[in-house]
Amino acid sequence: MLRPDLFASLAPLRFLFFDMVKKINLALLLSTLCLALGTSQEPPSCGADLYRDWYRQQYPELQEQAAEWQESMAQWAARYEESLHPRTLITIPVVVHVVYKDEPQNISQEQIESQLEVLNADYRAANSNLDIVPPIFQNLIADVGIEFCLAAQDPEGKFTTGITRQATAKDNIGIDTDVHYTDKGGADAWDPLHYLNIWVADMGDNIVGRATFPGEAPLAEDGVVIDPRYFGTTGLAAGSDPYHLGRTTVHEIGHYLNLLHPWGSALPDCAGDDGVLDTPQTDEDYLLECPTTLQASCGSLDMYTNFMYYTNDACLAQFTPGQKVRILATLAGPRLGLTLSAGCLPSAVGAKAVPEFSLSIRPNPSAGQVVFELLGKEGQDGRLQIFDSVGKVLYEEKISTGQVRSLKVPAQWADGVYGVRVQTENGIFAERWILMRSK
Ligand SMILES: [Zn+2]
Repeated sequence: MLRPDLFASLAPLRFLFFDMVKKINLALLLSTLCLALGTSQEPPSCGADLYRDWYRQQYPELQEQAAEWQESMAQWAARYEESLHPRTLITIPVVVHVVYKDEPQNISQEQIESQLEVLNADYRAANSNLDIVPPIFQNLIADVGIEFCLAAQDPEGKFTTGITRQATAKDNIGIDTDVHYTDKGGADAWDPLHYLNIWVADMGDNIVGRATFPGEAPLAEDGVVIDPRYFGTTGLAAGSDPYHLGRTTVHEIGHYLNLLHPWGSALPDCAGDDGVLDTPQTDEDYLLECPTTLQASCGSLDMYTNFMYYTNDACLAQFTPGQKVRILATLAGPRLGLTLSAGCLPSAVGAKAVPEFSLSIRPNPSAGQVVFELLGKEGQDGRLQIFDSVGKVLYEEKISTGQVRSLKVPAQWADGVYGVRVQTENGIFAERWILMRSK
């Protein structure tokens, strides 16, 4: 019942309510609106536009700066040329705050990792369903060139798994801004300039996820909120067909990185637009649909396989080059801090050495040749990763207990401190490694 399009048609009602509720909390606002709209059978969908309107009303003092950001991002995007920006992979550190009322909502690490896998496939055009993109749009599949890590270092530089867990007594706390505050039953954000905060919390029956647009909400509330039933692909999400493939989060992070729905904010009259040239204008959202033949609206074919539609998870497959530029403009502008964060770099400070294994690095410091050995209980398989100081993965290799990995350090690696992380089913182990060739 809170589909943005349906909601937009009730604009006078909406503003009446927004005027009334300046100081009333959002949950009450939403329940009031639900009553006003009746008991609709509308399926749940994205709440980003709804909350965007609400934040703009609630925090007028933030909107001037946010509008200036939009202007400068548009100028950056207009000047963008791929050749001026040599491809560098950007890795965004993510912290997942699991805020749960009951035990099933306290989702497993496996379910969280399944979401990271989806993000890292979809934002790299490495998803397995690219073949569903209609031939006419195949040349508009973009590798956005960004990846996501679960933070390995918290804002104080200490070891972390990138996951926080907080029990709450509140129902549907995900639709309420209380979810962003520990003292209100939620979980405080980590420095939102340097981490993408994702709250996984119950959002009730109308909204699957929501996100803040750059600069429009207070920093403490900046990020993405996803219902645990639609986060990742395993556990609680496995039974959530058609939203069971983790694409709610792909879509909401799209909003967080300043992407709009392809119809802009206006359905269904072809008046809106998303500010991206290569996503055709549309007046359909394809909610709960999965077209298998070409679809058209507003005088052009619809790209219903675009992640910013409402199409079923299985039927979403692409971002476009134009959307990529809009995202890169955001990461060069208001969200620049994410690209400078040390959050992905493992910290040895306070690291909990996992009792079942440890990593031997020798010699340390190394002068050009280094040996890694995984010690501990037999039969453990893990993944060895070496990170540079901004968290970029430089080397990745499987490793098992008792196995030795010998590495001749590539000449282009600069002398300095690197992070080495080993992850097995039994946990994560992080260690610092120093490369020092010069005497
Ligand atoms: Zn949306």
